[in-house]
Amino acid sequence: MADAGAESPRIAILGGGIGGLAAAAFLRREGMAATVYEQAPELKEVGAGLVVAPNAVRLLRRLGVLEDFLRRAVRLGTGWEFRRWQNGTVLSAEDLASACERLYGEHTYTAHRADLLEVLRSAVPDGGVRRGKRCVDLTFRDGGRPVVRFADGGTAEPDVVIGADGIHSVVRGTIAGCSPAAYSGLCAFRALVPSERAPAFARREAQTLWIGPGRHLVHYPVSAGRLVNLVAFAPAGDEAVESWTATATVEEFLAEFEGWDPRLTELIRAAGTPGRWALLDRAPLRSWSQGPATLLGDAAHPMFPFFAQGAAQAVEDAAVLARCLADGPGDPPGALRRYEALRIPRTTRLQEVSHARSFVNHLPDGPEQRARDASFTDADPLVANGWIYGYDPDDALAESTGTR
Ligand SMILES: Cc1cc2nc3c(=O)[nH]c(=O)nc-3n(C[C@H](O)[C@H](O)[C@H](O)COP(=O)(O)OP(=O)(O)OC[C@H]3O[C@@H](n4cnc5c(N)ncnc54)[C@H](O)[C@@H]3O)c2cc1C
Repeated sequence: MADAGAESPRIAILGGGIGGLAAAAFLRREGMAATVYEQAPELKEVGAGLVVAPNAVRLLRRLGVLEDFLRRAVRLGTGWEFRRWQNGTVLSAEDLASACERLYGEHTYTAHRADLLEVLRSAVPDGGVRRGKRCVDLTFRDGGRPVVRFADGGTAEPDVVIGADGIHSVVRGTIAGCSPAAYSGLCAFRALVPSERAPAFARREAQTLWIGPGRHLVHYPVSAGRLVNLVAFAPAGDEAVESWTATATVEEFLAEFEGWDPRLTELIRAAGTPGRWALLDRAPLRSWSQGPATLLGDAAHPMFPFFAQGAAQAVEDAAVLARCLADGPGDPPGALRRYEALRIPRTTRLQEVSHARSFVNHLPDGPEQRARDASFTDADPLVANGWIYGYDPDDALAESTGTR
């Protein structure tokens, strides 16, 4: 909880996505108020599915929203499978039903992004989110006080600014310089398939990854099993649109996966109009903060989605940032320095391994691919990724103060 001796700073969170709402919720838990400024006029059901791994589930429990989340999510029981592109040969199969809780104390779930947003919003005080507020500029007065300008002509002069405004972050532009995100050469096709139209293998409570030359495809059920989330990564050619709403045709989607296991054709055909957008890329930053302003989530550390950790890292950032501000309410710049020192090494590592995974998942058939496939049987991915799923912000904070 915030130090009762020091006055609580006025905190503006720019961006009401998963990271921004999680930050407001964790600040509330620490006894600190914040205002979220979100550009969208209303919360729309955009995006698609997410894997919510034990490190994020632990924090939803801490916020008191896990029960609500579980009503909307799918508990991955059958597991986590890697399959060969051509014929579905199982390269690795993990039974998550028991292993996750035994190893990490929490389970792995899948969810619709809108459901995760909704449960996080329920942990934010009424009136804590202002919609239709697009930040266009962040500057600092002579004394260092931040001035936020909005597209509607309004301004705010809070004590602390948290830039949770995604990969094209305006706040990042001020703090780290304006450089557009680079185009990765890959695009993602996404679709939500109504369960009654999806083949039975895709309705199982499993996250299945089909990996092949230059491409991979992932599916799992979401929304309490009513929908199957389908996401596939392929070379993008000149397609450089990055948006939650750009679309492709089923024929374009099918053409990318021609010659793959025929069961996938059935699933792709059921996809309706898939979304498609280019995956963007940014190198890790060495610093996230300037005075009393900082970054969080994709604004700070966008990553390829190949470890399914972008949202989880935004929620972890939120937990650590809220505690740092609560521990040092009289010195926000100091609190933000502590926050970034705790978070940058971990998120940089995740950015790097997520990047590397695009090469590993997309190896052409040959000796390297055979060595990769053989390695699946040697290294259990759930155990190998223990540094990701076992992380607890409270432990990291306690270690930083020598109280653990
Ligand atoms: C294909 C794909 C699959 C993924 N799968 C997973 C997964 O399985 N698990 C996982 O953990 N993560 C996954 N991710 C990553 C995850 O979606 C992101 O990391 C996460 O959404 C980041 O949250 P954020 O709040 O930082 O940013 P965003 O979700 O981008 O939210 C930013 C918010 O800020 C608002 N905003 C933007 N600019 C402004 C402005 N100027 N002023 C005010 N508001 C503004 C936006 O409207 C938005 O609401 C995936 C990503 C992709 C692309």
